Amino acid sequence: MNAPVRSTCPYCGVGCGVEARQTEAGLYEITGDKRHPANFGRLCVKGAALGETLAPDGRLLYPEINGERVEWDTALAYTAQRLRTIVDEFGPQAVAFYASGQLLTEDYYAANKLMKGFIGSANIDTNSRLCMSSAVVGYKRAFGADAVPCSYEDLEQTDLAVLVGSNAAWAHPVLYQRLVQAKKLRPQMKVVVIDPRRTATCDIADLHLALRPGSDAGLFVGLLNYLHLQQPLAAEQFDGQAEALKLAAVWPLTKCADFCQLEADAVQTFWQWFAEADRAVTLYTMGINQSSSGSDKCNAIINAHLACGKLARAGCGPFSLTGQPNAMGGREVGGLANQLACHMNFEPADIARLGQFWGSERIAETPGLMAVELFGAIGRGEVKAVWIMGTNPVVSLPDALCVEQALAKCPLVIVSDVALQTDTGRYANVRFPALAWGEKNGTVTNSERRISRQRSFLPAPGEARADWWIVSQIAQRLGYSEAFSWRHPQEIFCEHAALSGYENHGSRAFDISGLANLSREQYDALEPVRWPVTSEGEPVFKSWRVSGKFQLVPVEPDLPQAVADRCYPLILNTGRIRDQWHTMTRTGGVARLMQHINMPFLEIHPDDAQRYGIQDAGLVRIASRLGGMVARAQVSLNQQAGSVFAPMHWSQQFARKGQTNSLVAGVCDPHSGQPESKQTAVRVQRW
Ligand code: SF4
Repeated sequence: MNAPVRSTCPYCGVGCGVEARQTEAGLYEITGDKRHPANFGRLCVKGAALGETLAPDGRLLYPEINGERVEWDTALAYTAQRLRTIVDEFGPQAVAFYASGQLLTEDYYAANKLMKGFIGSANIDTNSRLCMSSAVVGYKRAFGADAVPCSYEDLEQTDLAVLVGSNAAWAHPVLYQRLVQAKKLRPQMKVVVIDPRRTATCDIADLHLALRPGSDAGLFVGLLNYLHLQQPLAAEQFDGQAEALKLAAVWPLTKCADFCQLEADAVQTFWQWFAEADRAVTLYTMGINQSSSGSDKCNAIINAHLACGKLARAGCGPFSLTGQPNAMGGREVGGLANQLACHMNFEPADIARLGQFWGSERIAETPGLMAVELFGAIGRGEVKAVWIMGTNPVVSLPDALCVEQALAKCPLVIVSDVALQTDTGRYANVRFPALAWGEKNGTVTNSERRISRQRSFLPAPGEARADWWIVSQIAQRLGYSEAFSWRHPQEIFCEHAALSGYENHGSRAFDISGLANLSREQYDALEPVRWPVTSEGEPVFKSWRVSGKFQLVPVEPDLPQAVADRCYPLILNTGRIRDQWHTMTRTGGVARLMQHINMPFLEIHPDDAQRYGIQDAGLVRIASRLGGMVARAQVSLNQQAGSVFAPMHWSQQFARKGQTNSLVAGVCDPHSGQPESKQTAVRVQRW
């Protein structure tokens, strides 16, 4: 048996290390990497089944134009010429890229550089917009930088772990296992779960607060007031302090309990535990971020940590868990439309710095279109070319039917993907076959800012190519040969690392300039490393501060925009299940993963089921003002009355009776542009 290849799981933001071993039969066995500090050998069921996703069946193997196989050169020349014509005629804002947290950092860097550095538009956004863009706003407003001040060890060192809007047991399983183990070793450690549903994560909860959907900010604004009353903050300790405390002062216990529809005693218990714990960490994800006031919810959480000093020390901090394997890497390279590379912003000094470093006078000067508005602009004909890389927006974006309609009339749709059949691929004029996990080579960054290598151990099937190669080939044909002359991902990584330290002087938290001179061999052998890694040696991140004081952001608790009414009396919550990933293009083909849950379901409280004549395991039709779908009913006390839950994974490809995101409206947080995927008014009936 050959020596195993060490790599990283391509699914969630935990970023587990894996080892790929070839068996005598020529297949690959995937096991956890005991040396990787994210998982120390553990894997969840999805990661453990990776070996079953490696067959080349169902792969897109050759470039295509309008459904016909063509040579690479033909596809690249055609695409570059069409992009050039559109930019010349309508300007750079008429083209857009829609990327993915599945891309490797090197791929992401190349795409971002082409769009923001050379085409001259910031219209590159990503499916990470749907996942953690509210968390980015929260950190930037509080700390002046998108810097997650926590690590996984904090879970083992804390006295109180608060999970809010997170079903970590299913969505971040290995992290949850670490928490389970920590609690076993230190039973005095308390766990609080804040979630309208009773989920698998509640199995280790000392307290489960099944609050009114979307009311989380009330709980944390009230907590800020409580903490200040217990131990008043020194005057002007934080920027924004007076206003934040003034707003919080009108949220006493009874008002918070009413707002969140919780027992006052339960709220009091949570607040008291939080105040009394020496160390507390709050883990949050989609239940907080996917909201029309998600950014404020993030800041309400961060405010509480700042107010009692539970930050910047072991076992403490507000910890946003990323959904995708490289959502964090996308943030680092500037893959969101409202940021520039390496944590730079649309400010004159940063624009000039980037122009110097890249040797370009065409740096985008204003933010581009965020995901939901981007597809709206395509629908209105304002964006005339879109390049979709490694994602399936026809299934994953809200208001999915409008996304389909927009793509259907877009003059140029380019899709880079690994799968032959996807709902989005049906609308492509040009299709580029990309490398899949096991074939591609580069880096990813997980939720705790740890950069790990994804290494290749399989040959490229057919004529599939790396995403960074495809982007750089297009860039060369657009006339930017010098800036896109990379021959290997190591060269891209080193350029990215050098940019992170370029005229940085400690002003930007993201600094990996200490890795800028890696040789090919050193890059190949790179061990998982948490940033910052500066050329001056590893600084103590926990004492880092970009400039001035931290900020307490004034928050007025808000409820979701979706309101149940006579016609649509229930609120639909959407989310993930344990054994599927995103739109199932990879996990949907693995028989043992399908055994867990094999069709779309709707979880509904027994009282609602009775009211609408629905029986457990019977089929039910769910309709919102935008669309409908059919699912199997799961009658359960885990759901609170008035709310229902459906997973977001199934597409037309896997279930022909509609998909969840066709029901969800594209209502977004005004600061982050993240859609409110957790709350949609719906009605249900037996089907
Ligand atoms: Fe992969 Fe996430 Fe499971 Fe780890 S927890 S094996 S990263 S899906």
